[in-house]
Amino acid sequence: MRTDAFALRHIGTGENDLNHMLQTIGVDSLDQLIFETIPDDIRLKNELNLDEPMTEYEYLNHIQELGKKNKVFKSYIGLGYNPAIVPAVIQRNIFENPGWYTAYTPYQAEIAQGRLEAILNFQTTVIELTGMEIANASLLDESTAAAEAMALLFDVRSRDQKKNNVTKFFVSEEILPQTLSVLQTRSTPLKIELVVGNHETFDFSKEFFGAILQYPGKYGQANDYTSFIAKAAENEIKVAVAADILSLAKLKSPGEMGAAVVVGTTQRFGIPMGYGGPHAAFFATKDEYKRSMPGRIIGVSIDVNGNRALRMALGTREQHIKREKATSNICTAQVLLAVMAGMYAVYHGPKGLKYIANKVHASAHTTAEELNKLGVYQTNTSFFDTILVKADAAKVKAIAERNEVNFFYVDAETISISFNETTSINDINQIIGIFAEATGKEFTPVKILLPSGRITENLERTSTFLQHDVFNNHHSESQLMRYIKKLERKDLSLNHSMISLGSCTMKLNAAAEMLPLSMANWNNMHPFAPIEQAEGYLTMLKKLEQQLNVVTGFTGTTLQPNSGAQGEYAGLMAIRAYHLSRGDDHRTVCLIPSSAHGTNPASAAMAGMDIIVTKTTPEGNIDVEDLRARAIEFKDRLSCLMVTYPSTHGVFESSIIEITDIIHENGGLVYMDGANMNAQVGLTNPATIGADVCHLNLHKTFAIPHGGGGPGVGPICVNDKLVPFLPTNPVIKVGGDQAITAISAAPYGSALVCLISYGYICMLGAEGLTKSTKHAILNANYMKARLEAHYPVLYSGEMGRAAHEMILDCRAFEDNGIKVTDIAKRLMDYGFHAPTVSFPVAGTLMIEPTESEDLAELDRFCDAMISIRKEIAASTKDDAQNILKNAPHTLAMVTANEWVYPYSRENAAYPLEYIAENKFWPTVRRVDEAYGDRNLVCSCAPIEAYM
Ligand SMILES: *Cc1c(COP(=O)(O)O)cnc(C)c1O
Repeated sequence: MRTDAFALRHIGTGENDLNHMLQTIGVDSLDQLIFETIPDDIRLKNELNLDEPMTEYEYLNHIQELGKKNKVFKSYIGLGYNPAIVPAVIQRNIFENPGWYTAYTPYQAEIAQGRLEAILNFQTTVIELTGMEIANASLLDESTAAAEAMALLFDVRSRDQKKNNVTKFFVSEEILPQTLSVLQTRSTPLKIELVVGNHETFDFSKEFFGAILQYPGKYGQANDYTSFIAKAAENEIKVAVAADILSLAKLKSPGEMGAAVVVGTTQRFGIPMGYGGPHAAFFATKDEYKRSMPGRIIGVSIDVNGNRALRMALGTREQHIKREKATSNICTAQVLLAVMAGMYAVYHGPKGLKYIANKVHASAHTTAEELNKLGVYQTNTSFFDTILVKADAAKVKAIAERNEVNFFYVDAETISISFNETTSINDINQIIGIFAEATGKEFTPVKILLPSGRITENLERTSTFLQHDVFNNHHSESQLMRYIKKLERKDLSLNHSMISLGSCTMKLNAAAEMLPLSMANWNNMHPFAPIEQAEGYLTMLKKLEQQLNVVTGFTGTTLQPNSGAQGEYAGLMAIRAYHLSRGDDHRTVCLIPSSAHGTNPASAAMAGMDIIVTKTTPEGNIDVEDLRARAIEFKDRLSCLMVTYPSTHGVFESSIIEITDIIHENGGLVYMDGANMNAQVGLTNPATIGADVCHLNLHKTFAIPHGGGGPGVGPICVNDKLVPFLPTNPVIKVGGDQAITAISAAPYGSALVCLISYGYICMLGAEGLTKSTKHAILNANYMKARLEAHYPVLYSGEMGRAAHEMILDCRAFEDNGIKVTDIAKRLMDYGFHAPTVSFPVAGTLMIEPTESEDLAELDRFCDAMISIRKEIAASTKDDAQNILKNAPHTLAMVTANEWVYPYSRENAAYPLEYIAENKFWPTVRRVDEAYGDRNLVCSCAPIEAYM
């Protein structure tokens, strides 16, 4: 047997554990367990058709070689993506550190104070630079953030506007092309009419509810929008501004101009371009719109002792929880990238940011002046970092490419050049040299940057920003390194213990999968670089698409969506386009079982569908008769069914083929939510169960780390019927021959992190992938066998098996005064992150161990749960000083001179033996959710402001 196979590193339980585990479950073999779990009629007969697995060493060599096929030219393309310097201290201590990148979304605030603070820094950075009142914890990319701004402005229309059906939205022709494309996609199903034009000639009329402007414009022109926004206000038109975050260190903020929403990307705050992503977009608005805000907001609150504690604010208002009433479906966002961007602001501080912005501007200005001497005229009247020059584009392009330089060629005689933080004097001379050669003129190299600039006086920023201590006290590397470590220590991540989040598949994110993200040939590519320069990327991305086709049994894949929910939206839009292409305009009904994840109805609402919720049986399955009745009732209008498989209850429903047949017989298509794909890979697939399209969460099943709430990748895989409708991009052509417009900004979404899933599949191969699935099912059923004597397990397959996850029913413990959250908090004292709380059933815990956990870790978790069960049994309703209710116990509490509780300090902090050698201390006590919502603070305000 090979001992260097990656499968041995990825899969936690080995051959030696197998007998014991199978015995505990009560089966003879792993195959028997799988037979009892997955209905026979949907089992795959053949192994997946994938290449032989590589070892970690082979893979790293392979990816290094493939990387050499990416020609990384100097990029002055701009259009929302700029070369950036990732501060080494941030690269090493956050980007490459599992303590940060393996964390889960901070729902369990008491063990997430570190990243919550880091995101608060991000929000503060955004609020102050944009001049707005409130900002969220990141969105997927600038273009989708712009679409969210449009949706928010549509949602907050006045009563009169709603009554008069005011549906027009003005889009400045200065908007980035990819943003325009995403706005087209997102406006259509909402019946918003886009009007694209010049903001200077726009005639303000009552027919418009909103407008969006780009600041500075796509080719660099910086306009003062103050009077536009004022005139718009007179006509009840609210204005969103898509702004360049770095420019705001130098330019008057959109907030000061009166904007209602400001969006953009923070990529150039120390995030690699990565051939399109991942990057954190930002969304800032006024306090009055906070209830309509998309995404998550981090806010300041207090714990039971009144100490400052952070948590996700307005939690229940998370958009997708509004289900079919939602106006946004954001779940996974871009938290890791937001953490990095916020830390970039901490590291540079206001002075550093201003210095960088000045330098970038001076580079642009100096180059413009020199080009002018060559007779190459610059046409922007005011600009920050981008100059627009008149020259023979074909001639310049040939010379530039020979010098390994990319500009953006607007048309035959117009070239746009965007400068960035990395631009040096040498670079400037290289640019001037290219134009000198093209014009056949001599030039004298510049030695210094010109001091004065080309920003009109009214646009110069005069207001201060980022005056708080945190942005002014961490400018040496030791300071920042320790600050990052201090925050990291407050958070429980996969490098401490298992995070058994049902539906979220927190598996190993292997170092060998992650390493290539730091390689310069991979992370410095601009997404709009000419495709012949991106051969490495295109080879890898095509290969990954094929691998995912094989895994799902489908024929086409797009990697564009950068979250699962966005994949849902993309899939539904492809279904919509399919029906429209056949003249079936009326097929708009989307059936969704009541047990579906909240993003399903939210996505369907955004896709303009009419949602019909179908029933679930007491056993947790889809009520087939209700589904049939609904499908027949709406057969003339049926668009599709959204179904999660195995179900959100963690069961392989045996009626799935019957279910998908019913939908097809009535003219609909089947969308499969692939969040539970970890139970399918290699054993069955969406095509086999009769689906037409599915999304995959590469950040669940395919090893991309969760990042504390993103990045994600949510590709959709489709059959022949839907391949023609896969989305395109306006700059780099991708997608089907009847492609829908863009789903996200970049042609391949978050291409950089696709490397992780590619590596995962390359190293596991067919056998390793299938074995992973079997072990995921094995681990879940082992835990079920150990726990079911102590906790009722809700829902099982017909032969009593769980799939890859199971639900523990905790509702009866309310008789002892114990709620499910008390168990979640008490688990922290035992060194564990809670499983999924109250999804898909309120009052329950959903446990998904994944294949990566080893037997000892599974046993520790089971021991903790069993020990907690004894504590529950000893609890009574009127027990005010209950060990569960007081959980989690902090170090300060346990070491205080005073101890007033009826149980011992040892029981509080060290209830089981294993804890002593690896204790994790929550840094705050139980967080008061309601307090913070009543006093919403979502930036680093001074302590007096909220106490
Ligand atoms: C995670 C999940 C989603 C949403 O995926 P995101 O990447 O967070 O947008 C949708 N459905 C189910 C069942 C999920 O578990």
